[in-house]
Amino acid sequence: MTAPRRGRVALVGAGPGDPGLITVKGARLIAQCDVLVYDYLAAAPIVALARPDCEKIYVGKKAGAHTLSQDEITALLVRLAGEGKRVVRLKGGDVFVFARGGEEARDLHAAGVAFEIVPGITSAIAAPAYAGIPVTHRDHNTAFTIATGHEDPLKGYSSLDFAKLADPGKTLVFLMAMGSLAGIVARLLENGLGAETPVAIVREGTKPQQETLVATLGTIVAEVERVGFAAPAIVVIGDVVREREPIRWFDNGPLFGKKILITRPQGAAEEFAARLWEFGAEPLVAPAIEIRLPADEAAAVRAVEAVREYAWVVFTSANGVESFFDRLTARGADARALGDVRVAAIGAKTADRLAVRGVIADFVPDEFVGEAVAAGLLERTEPGERILIFGAQEARDVIPDTLRSAERVVDIVAGYQTVAQRDPAIAEAARAADIWTFASPSTVRAFLDNVPDATPLAAHKTVACIGPVTAAAARNAGLPVHVVAEEYTVDGLLAALENPAHEVLG
Ligand code: SAH
Repeated sequence: MTAPRRGRVALVGAGPGDPGLITVKGARLIAQCDVLVYDYLAAAPIVALARPDCEKIYVGKKAGAHTLSQDEITALLVRLAGEGKRVVRLKGGDVFVFARGGEEARDLHAAGVAFEIVPGITSAIAAPAYAGIPVTHRDHNTAFTIATGHEDPLKGYSSLDFAKLADPGKTLVFLMAMGSLAGIVARLLENGLGAETPVAIVREGTKPQQETLVATLGTIVAEVERVGFAAPAIVVIGDVVREREPIRWFDNGPLFGKKILITRPQGAAEEFAARLWEFGAEPLVAPAIEIRLPADEAAAVRAVEAVREYAWVVFTSANGVESFFDRLTARGADARALGDVRVAAIGAKTADRLAVRGVIADFVPDEFVGEAVAAGLLERTEPGERILIFGAQEARDVIPDTLRSAERVVDIVAGYQTVAQRDPAIAEAARAADIWTFASPSTVRAFLDNVPDATPLAAHKTVACIGPVTAAAARNAGLPVHVVAEEYTVDGLLAALENPAHEVLG
């Protein structure tokens, strides 16, 4: 008999907002855990790291009230660990920077629960960094102080020593200070910090909503009122703020702050969404199609099992590759099942996916133009040879027609089908977005079925397509197309969107 597994709690810092700023170790622990306990609005890509069967418990503030008190949270962690669960307690930024991680760790220790600490990138340094403000700089300061502007009301007003804080040689970084900004500024001025001292406030740092307000100690309170700046925000006080203009890099990119609609199916949307965060853009994921098993699954299985009877297999999409190899894997087989069958991949992404499965394509036409693909295959085959075209149920006909008329024996087998979605969320996301993106003609069609007023709406949007075939489908359906990727991949689409030659509307 094996002893029951001991539970364990990991206190994990999620970083300041940009999901790319979680640590490798934190991401691994989330991917492995049984229960995820979090108290702030963690970015969707971070929560998505958890397994589908991972229990997710939100214990944070809703409408100003804690759903669970600190004691209740600790009790929950102790109980879950006692059940043998691997628990991740996720906290924004770092777990010990004004985040009660110290109290939770102490209580876990007292309860005899095994735990570990995974530090996170604190907003105290990350929000300034994403605003182009270095917290130290040799020209300005040799120390910086991270302070809370939120004093425990039970302690009465401020235990901070403003006489020591009012030092032009130190950078001050305040968290939770929006409510007490006027008091903090008054005390610093009283204690001799110059009214000309630069101040920056960075709200929603590292996110597409990031905003930065720059003023001086003398003017910042009025400026905050004028602009209506609210929490969560970091207040940076000191000469380092002067470095911002040349160092700005995040909030001045062409895609920063743009809301970008992703209509690709689940499974393909996530990768695109993750890349968008790197540009400071906000992904709005609204899949217009879903990938399902083909109508004739038996035919797909037969083709996979009999693949050696063909001289060539042509994969028409990355999904085709996935669905082919998933069936092989399900049968306990691997890439060797292909033997010396030659392989063509239409498009770079399809070839990449094959490479991941251990197969280097023998022929990769760079363009998904039916005629070019057919001509390339004719050059490489003899009359009478058998060719399997494996892809979507809705495949185009140019390739088989050309091949058959030159006496090749062609089987077309669907590895999957795309099914249009019906979801009011698609129209909602379309309205909210600045940029619409399409990665296949079937997505364009499914999208339009969900957004009947797409054409008038598009007058205020940028419409971006992954390649000419998708762009043609969009134009035929009456949509303007502003951006077409030169390389028909997500990266190609991003490069085209970033290109200053076209103006992003919205
Ligand atoms: N443990 C967190 C801080 C929690 S206290 C950390 O290390 O970052 C909450 C305060 O953090 C907020 O009131 C705000 O001052 C600051 N904060 C957190 N995330 C922020 C962000 N993305 N941008 C600006 N300030 C942020």
